[in-house]
Amino acid sequence: MVGGGLAGLTSAYALHEAGYRVELLERREDVALETSFANGGILTPSMPDPWNAPGVHWRLLRWLGREDAPMLLRPAAIPGYFGWGLRFLAASAPRSFLASMGANYRLCAYSLERLRAWRAALGLEYALGTRGTLEIYRERHSYQQAVAELAALAPLGLAGTPLDPEATARLEPLLAEVQGDLVGAIHFPADESGDALLFCRALRERLAARGVAIRLNTAVQGVRQSGGQVAGVETAAGFVPGSQVVLAAGPWSRELLAACGVTVHVRPVKGYSLSIPIDPASGPRHALSDDTLHAVMTPLGATLRLAGTAEFSGWDLTLRPGRVEALWRLLKALSPTLAGSVDRASARAWCGLRPMSADGRPYIGRTAVGGLYVNTGHGHLGWTQAAGSATLLAQLMSGAPTAIDPRPFALSPLERRAWRSEIQPAEQAS
Ligand SMILES: Cc1cc2nc3c(=O)[nH]c(=O)nc-3n(C[C@H](O)[C@H](O)[C@H](O)COP(=O)(O)OP(=O)(O)OC[C@H]3O[C@@H](n4cnc5c(N)ncnc54)[C@H](O)[C@@H]3O)c2cc1C
Repeated sequence: MVGGGLAGLTSAYALHEAGYRVELLERREDVALETSFANGGILTPSMPDPWNAPGVHWRLLRWLGREDAPMLLRPAAIPGYFGWGLRFLAASAPRSFLASMGANYRLCAYSLERLRAWRAALGLEYALGTRGTLEIYRERHSYQQAVAELAALAPLGLAGTPLDPEATARLEPLLAEVQGDLVGAIHFPADESGDALLFCRALRERLAARGVAIRLNTAVQGVRQSGGQVAGVETAAGFVPGSQVVLAAGPWSRELLAACGVTVHVRPVKGYSLSIPIDPASGPRHALSDDTLHAVMTPLGATLRLAGTAEFSGWDLTLRPGRVEALWRLLKALSPTLAGSVDRASARAWCGLRPMSADGRPYIGRTAVGGLYVNTGHGHLGWTQAAGSATLLAQLMSGAPTAIDPRPFALSPLERRAWRSEIQPAEQAS
């Protein structure tokens, strides 16, 4: 297993459970120090829609150069996104967008089911929240579209309750002082929240206790093949033999795969978070998602996590003050009182690189190289989809029946493209 983030650790666990002897190689000094370190903390089957919704190209153009834009394309980075970007835009066609939304929903819902089972079996503690997500809307058009999307996904099992601003404030009293700014909200009670870093650390311990070797400070330099079949991986510390290799190295998977002649359309998309120490009693009861500001606010025990924004800026991990400030503005927009009472100096800003696929669906399964597998490309849904993706991967590797249809996540472009939408366009939903 290459990679010790959410994807790698959960895959290691699912494969161990399926009877494999697993060794996990991570280049950093500990697990979950990259994208899985301080994400938004929400587990949301309610948000299966890829970020390239129809019309995304207009929004990207409108936001070009605006430091506070929810989605920001930095002109200097455009060459690095060129081919991927064209695919990203092509996938915003309604048919492709809806196909990805439906496939993602099934994977998200399955993933939460698996996560609950693992939590119970392993006693994992990670600042769990089970009151669901409250998605708030400031623009009537977006709210109506979200209600229509809910109706479109309801046949697949998504449950949500549309609320007017008064009912929203009754459910989440923190929003009472800003209810005049809202046009409505949707409460998704089955969503969960939790600290991905705590989860990864807890899982690392359970894996180690079960005899799974976790080799830190071990960067994989390449995959060795022999006769079209994987033989193991090369590291600075020497060759590690293995008849099956899983690449779950986040956005860094692409280079390792490319060296094996395998293509995945995955690029890094930067996001920011702020972790603020708070008295839990003064924070929100629910995880809140602000549609207009494209960001979330999640209570994680004694930490309030604000996260969001998408920046197409290549591998650059500079913490830009303007983007961090946008998260402070989010806090003020959601709760001026809370914003005025927290200690700004003790807040920790962070940014990470989402492994974003062009069509908004992860890559899970076998490659054309014998014994080489992939689990990456989850973009903004990597926490939500972790346990389900890992279980699906283990089912595919072991030849067990798969719990959900794996074709939308296949590496084969033909299989992937042939996946048809199960859901009707939102406008047509009743
Ligand atoms: C700001 C932000 C907010 C987010 N919020 C949410 C959210 O609320 N809900 C949600 O579902 N998702 C969210 N996400 C997405 C989610 O965090 C990611 O999809 C997920 O963390 C990706 O996990 P990963 O294991 O694929 O990648 P990573 O966590 O990056 O793990 C990859 C690992 O591979 C290692 N590695 C790389 N190359 C090598 C190599 N050559 N050899 C050995 N090891 C290697 C890296 O060091 C790293 O540890 C958010 C992301 C961001 C940035």
